[in-house]
Amino acid sequence: MKTCFVCSGPAETEEHIIPKWLQRQYALWDQKLSLPNRTTITYKHLKIPCCFDCNNNVLSQLETKVKSGTATDEELWKWAAKIHFGLLRKDDFLEWDRKNPGYKIGDVIKQDDPFELDRHLAHSIHGEFETDPSPWGSVFRFKFDRPVDYHFAHLISPAGLAVAFGDVGYVIFVSDTGSLSRQPDVCRSYEFHRKDVHPGKMLNFFANSWVHLFRHRVSYPFLMTPNSIALLGSPKLIETLPFGDDDYRQLWSYITSNPDAKIVTTEEYQSRNGLP
Ligand SMILES: [Zn+2]
Repeated sequence: MKTCFVCSGPAETEEHIIPKWLQRQYALWDQKLSLPNRTTITYKHLKIPCCFDCNNNVLSQLETKVKSGTATDEELWKWAAKIHFGLLRKDDFLEWDRKNPGYKIGDVIKQDDPFELDRHLAHSIHGEFETDPSPWGSVFRFKFDRPVDYHFAHLISPAGLAVAFGDVGYVIFVSDTGSLSRQPDVCRSYEFHRKDVHPGKMLNFFANSWVHLFRHRVSYPFLMTPNSIALLGSPKLIETLPFGDDDYRQLWSYITSNPDAKIVTTEEYQSRNGLP
């Protein structure tokens, strides 16, 4: 039996990682999305095992809120976390499945796997796991001066996504403990980029904010129990990483879906910069 990617219960259904209403609205079914492991997958195949309750209650209520533009920051964070962890596990597990044919996407592997915190954060979508602060990330909202085409960009680590549809756009970082939204320079940049908004400005804000998170490696004390995580102090800067023009160009072409874009994973950045 497959397990639900949100609550780890038995999964009787499948959840579309990019919601059906968005796929219908922008005819995305047969379009391809690039995954950071350099494979592509059509939107209609982007599904992940999910239990009946999470699919039809928790997640569908979330979708209704996001679709109608009435979602709170906490709900937008949950929505982004669903997409991020859905894509992350899709990506990881495509590779995992090839090496471990007995396992399927959504299986809980073991307690000491490196995704423990990720899984807990995914559980918080369902309300089984509590975070303090809540949301455990930063949410930025944009209102465009005209309806825009659908645009989606997802970065794995630090985890963030930018999505635009209708006349709204969201930039959401999933696991920065909300630190970006407390940074004075990021707040100034947000105020600047959200005025008279064109989608390109939102993507520019996304790129700059992501680079800020990537470059400023921080450590923070937290207390984790099986049901909760709480931040115990302010993040402390450990090191500042270089990020050259070339890195930025590649990031930008990925975020904007430029046809010449090269997908660069964090691992590649890290190995190129001699980082562990
Ligand atoms: Zn579930």
